[in-house]
Amino acid sequence: MDAEIIAIGSELLLGATIDTNSAYMAGHLAAAGVNLFRTSVVGDNVERIAATISESLGRADLVICTGGLGPTLDDVTREAVALAFGRELEFRQDLLDQVAARFAAMNRPMSESNRRQAYVPAGARAIENPRGTAPAFIVGDERGTVIVLPGVPYEMRYLFENVVLPYLRDERGITDVILVKTLHAVGLGESVIGEMIADLMLASNPTVGISAKQARYELRIGARASSLAVAQTMVDTAEATIRERLGDHLTGEETLADAVSRLLTTGQQTLSLYEGTIVAPIYRALSGTATGLNHVRGVIVHPLDRPTDEHASASLAHAGAISAADRWRSDLGLAVQAASMPDDRGFTAVSVALCFPDGSRQITRYYDLRQPEGWDFVGTLALDLLRRYLMGEDE
Ligand code: ATP
Ligand code: MG
Repeated sequence: MDAEIIAIGSELLLGATIDTNSAYMAGHLAAAGVNLFRTSVVGDNVERIAATISESLGRADLVICTGGLGPTLDDVTREAVALAFGRELEFRQDLLDQVAARFAAMNRPMSESNRRQAYVPAGARAIENPRGTAPAFIVGDERGTVIVLPGVPYEMRYLFENVVLPYLRDERGITDVILVKTLHAVGLGESVIGEMIADLMLASNPTVGISAKQARYELRIGARASSLAVAQTMVDTAEATIRERLGDHLTGEETLADAVSRLLTTGQQTLSLYEGTIVAPIYRALSGTATGLNHVRGVIVHPLDRPTDEHASASLAHAGAISAADRWRSDLGLAVQAASMPDDRGFTAVSVALCFPDGSRQITRYYDLRQPEGWDFVGTLALDLLRRYLMGEDE
């Protein structure tokens, strides 16, 4: 079955509210084995909502709408669905009784505008909403089915779990499962990874997708099958291929920071940091994970040095790593130091250095530090230098 989602509400188009409902439903539809083709966002306008519904029904056989079921005049989803199906809105006394009962239970007077919520398109199946006043409904014709849910996130979630998912299972026979697994990679460009696994990324089942975050990558494997066991085998096979191709660039199910912290635990080693910038990119990268700072003895933040070039920053990083390890009596010292000025292309030399009991290693790279995200790349570079040392890799 192919589905689309339509999120309705002008506040979504104004950027005032983030459309979390679509993301929630997308995740659950995937897990239920429903193909989601497209999501749309549309404002509170009868004609545009009706047109969007008709377009979606032209592509998909199930359309789920959320939002615009409230009692006020700007909540027009009911009218729009009726228009898309060429039907009248029908007053339903049983729905008004439900709304009235809810107000009575809350000991509040029901306002006249709540009557609007007792209307659904002719022939629709109404769904009681025990979490709010707006009844939801299901309506369909030969083009497909539209399920209309409220916009308030906790009402929508309740009805999605208690009405939509059972409907898909019991009335539409959706029993496929989709299993998703996320792997983490580091130290390569997105395009390089993309080329290494291009064949997997082009395949339709299992699917493999990459999302990039400052030199760290998430690879998502999704497999769809009639049983969990089959889906698991498909994921495992794809994972084995990815591991073989990406080798030590893959940190597996762990993030980079988690991998570093586990390796420090295994080796029973302690770490100190020297940050030649107030941004403290290594500390930040490590503090992103629960156990990242467990083995960190201390941090020196020394933003006042102004090395003029690549060589000066490299030697200061080296000295910083040693002085941090000395200062806090730790096994390892990890340091970062950037040159004070970017080159004429706007890139700044950044050195990271690691010292350990019988030696040291370091890397210098150029980053665009005019963007705050530039520093995230530096944190990744430093942690990956440490990770490779802890795994016993040669320089
Ligand atoms: P009800 O009648 O129960 O109030 P409704 O269908 O009228 O529901 P809306 O008026 O569209 O819902 O929205 C109610 C609230 O839910 C608003 O605060 C809105 O910001 C939030 N909301 C609506 N749509 C979404 C969405 N797609 N994602 C996240 N929040 C949403
Ligand atoms: Mg609204």
